[in-house]
Amino acid sequence: MTPERVDVFVAGGGLAGLAAAAAFGETGFSVLLADPSPPPAENEHDEDLRSTAFLQPARDLLERIGLWDTLAPHAMPLDALRIIDTAGWPPEIRETRVFEPGDLGAASFGWNLPNALTRREMVRAIAKMPEVELCWGTGFRSLLTRTAEVRVNLTGGRQVAARLAVAADGRDSALREAAGIGVRISRYGQKVLAFTATHALGHARVSTEVYNEGGAFTTVPLPDVNGRPASAIVWMNDGPRAVELAGLDPAAFGEAMTERACGVLGPMERVGGLGMWPVVTQVAERLTGERVALVAEAAHVLPPIGAQGLNTSLHDIAALVELARGDPAGLGGEAQLGAYESGRAGDIALRARAIDLYNRVCRSGEAPVQALRRFGLRMVHDVPPVRMAIMRAGLGRR
Ligand SMILES: Cc1cc2nc3c(=O)[nH]c(=O)nc-3n(C[C@H](O)[C@H](O)[C@H](O)COP(=O)(O)OP(=O)(O)OC[C@H]3O[C@@H](n4cnc5c(N)ncnc54)[C@H](O)[C@@H]3O)c2cc1C
Repeated sequence: MTPERVDVFVAGGGLAGLAAAAAFGETGFSVLLADPSPPPAENEHDEDLRSTAFLQPARDLLERIGLWDTLAPHAMPLDALRIIDTAGWPPEIRETRVFEPGDLGAASFGWNLPNALTRREMVRAIAKMPEVELCWGTGFRSLLTRTAEVRVNLTGGRQVAARLAVAADGRDSALREAAGIGVRISRYGQKVLAFTATHALGHARVSTEVYNEGGAFTTVPLPDVNGRPASAIVWMNDGPRAVELAGLDPAAFGEAMTERACGVLGPMERVGGLGMWPVVTQVAERLTGERVALVAEAAHVLPPIGAQGLNTSLHDIAALVELARGDPAGLGGEAQLGAYESGRAGDIALRARAIDLYNRVCRSGEAPVQALRRFGLRMVHDVPPVRMAIMRAGLGRR
């Protein structure tokens, strides 16, 4: 069978895969994206209320691929970040600091957007791009690489020849495995609960991180839900505690969450479904193989702190597409993939190390580590050059 030919094959139609397909398509490359899951449903937004905070630099990519104008009306600006350090149980507030984007000359740190809406709007925008084909219900199965191209076999028997295969097929990436690229994993014994909550007090577009034993409890502002102020909640706990919490009845869960948030948003109530994931740091041993590039969770999974996950992924995609734009004939070649590897590996490794350390310090119940945490928070916030450097690094600005 003669395979179909495209410039770029993308495995995975999550947020990262769709962003990669749109960015390559917008640059003029032909793209085939395959994902074994069904296409995002038109009403998915109403059922799945999870969200992602897109930091300022992510907007550049979304603007370039023509998505920002569609997403902007649904995006909740993040006007400040409040960090609350607590100790003991029930948690007692020891220290509070507020970080303002005005320090960096920006109006907001970023925008929170519902995942399902972002995905649906991306699919709609891509449908208008003649260079990009989205193939749902079909996954990547195997590959054969050659110097000039990669041959991809999809489930269902379709074969594709591409100059570059992009692995955006998530943390258990089949394409990464087929390319023979291993991963290094650190486990923490923690699980994260992610859901939407409504609360009595307004969030004033401030995102809050409350530290206590077990990990961070993060609230990220959302538009009102059922006429009440609402936030996306990302709640890390030691594994057994997370499982116990997930099994509580709604009233008991609401009480536990309100207590964990130190009441800063008033009484809280969960709405919609609850997702639970193990917290890991997982970094691929290499970002590239012959004619293959890894992006997003196929390349790096980070604990959900400081909105680094997808934002780091968008840096990967922007870097890969920029290299291809600069040398279209060299797409997927050794020089281009070498430049991608050397351009991204350092930033990913640094971010993974920083978040790993931050998570270990944040979750600790040990008194000396807690003291260090309080000292660190004061230092980072109260010394302006340190504060600005950390804020810039967190946003992914150079
Ligand atoms: C609780 C939580 C909160 C988070 N909050 C934030 C945040 O605020 N900001 C932020 O930047 N990041 C955040 N992250 C991280 C962010 O959600 C992830 O980085 C991002 O969703 C992962 O996107 P992805 O496209 O790489 O992977 P996925 O979303 O996992 O997508 C992978 C896709 O690959 C497909 N696939 C699987 N197998 C195959 C195959 N064989 N062939 C083809 N396709 C395949 C799957 O069907 C799926 O659609 C958070 C993560 C968690 C767990």
